[in-house]
Amino acid sequence: MALNLMLMGLPGAGKGTQAEKIVDEYKIPHISTGDIFRAAMKNGTPMGLEAKKFIDKGELVPDEVTNGIVKERLAKDDVNDGYMLDGFPRNMAQAEALDEFGKELGKSLSCVINIHVDPESLMERLTGRYICRDCGATYHKVFNPTKVEGTCDRCGGHEFFQREDDKPETVKNRLDVNIKMNTPLLDFYKKQGLLHEVNGNQDIDKVFADIKEILDQIK
Ligand SMILES: [Zn+2]
Repeated sequence: MALNLMLMGLPGAGKGTQAEKIVDEYKIPHISTGDIFRAAMKNGTPMGLEAKKFIDKGELVPDEVTNGIVKERLAKDDVNDGYMLDGFPRNMAQAEALDEFGKELGKSLSCVINIHVDPESLMERLTGRYICRDCGATYHKVFNPTKVEGTCDRCGGHEFFQREDDKPETVKNRLDVNIKMNTPLLDFYKKQGLLHEVNGNQDIDKVFADIKEILDQIK
């Protein structure tokens, strides 16, 4: 079976890292929504031009257009032997559309992998970053702390700050939005028997070994 994969994971779950490892190992095109949007607009594809109209007005691109761009991409021959979707589908309307045009193109999903990390650990990962006010060196409370507490390794400064994006309220909100978005998708793919959960609370190589075990069975 072709490895027609969709990769899921909340922010901080390590999806980007695993995505790179998967495409290196299995040599399948990595289809990330941001990249194919940029390419479609640059190449002036029908759907790319459609998307540009909304983006130029500062409006959200409707699902129909997003679906159209992914469909254009999946119609290409380089994904005949497999692909990895990343960042699509993001909601049920998109998932249902993918179901339809996947069948139409003979390139339906064969596997969905969700890298699961509990929200508490994600909070720890995502809110741990702090930055030296004097020299801009970046640290992490858990994964990369300063050698001496409260003193910058690089410049000896004592003042640190957190980016707005890394503050607990902001991170909590981002996680909540994503959990709300992912939950129906996880149910949908579970019902279809496509969903595989991987424990993302392990070191990077162990997570990849678990993913590999699943993918090798599908190939
Ligand atoms: Zn410093």
